[in-house]
Amino acid sequence: MIIAIDGPSGAGKSTLGKMLARELDLLYLDTGAMYRAGALAVLRAGISFEDEVGVADLIKSSAIELTGNAENQKVSLDGNDVTTEIRTLVVAQAASRVSTNSAVRRRMVELQRQMGERAERGCVLEGRDIGTVVFPNADVKFFLTAEPSARARRRFEEDKAKGRESTYEQTLAEINERDERDVARDDSPLQIPEGAEVIDTSELDLDEVFEQMLAVIRERRSAAA
Ligand code: C5P
Repeated sequence: MIIAIDGPSGAGKSTLGKMLARELDLLYLDTGAMYRAGALAVLRAGISFEDEVGVADLIKSSAIELTGNAENQKVSLDGNDVTTEIRTLVVAQAASRVSTNSAVRRRMVELQRQMGERAERGCVLEGRDIGTVVFPNADVKFFLTAEPSARARRRFEEDKAKGRESTYEQTLAEINERDERDVARDDSPLQIPEGAEVIDTSELDLDEVFEQMLAVIRERRSAAA
């Protein structure tokens, strides 16, 4: 079973994706972490984002891996654990710039399909192009969204809990900038996939959304049986 979760930053994709993967015993893949790891490689190498060929070549020759399960997903770049390092605002912005590069996207999509297809019981993937490009035939597709203020509030609280220093206003500005780029890019822009269940999480707590998502999955499963 393949479950695709797409949507803008801070809509609850990661938390809910992990909850579903745990509940249904599926592999969990945070595809944004892969773009972040690629962006970190570019930042470390000092290559300009404008240098499309340089960026694509570097990322193609970098080993980007996701390991572990929903509880402890680890991201590695050329064999080194970068799980924590990729969670900064600088890397987030760099990821959204790197992700406009078509050659980079092709590489990431290829890796994501390989990992998803290899997962014996199936996989929950979350990102921006899962239901549109990576697995357009996913068994269930979700598009999670929320008001920008709700998404920024959630992200701000998460960052604070992890000890990161940023203000609510900075978080909101960062999220808006990335969303605009993700929606406007030519290759695989963020959009609602055909057949996706759209859930606005602004006014709901995550347990309520989780129950809604499980109900949709059960319904689709019994319809397919
Ligand atoms: O999900 P996360 O915020 O970690 O993603 C970082 C950036 O990676 C996003 O802003 C987006 O530009 C890019 N991304 C993407 N396609 C995906 C996942 C993430 O373009 N499937």
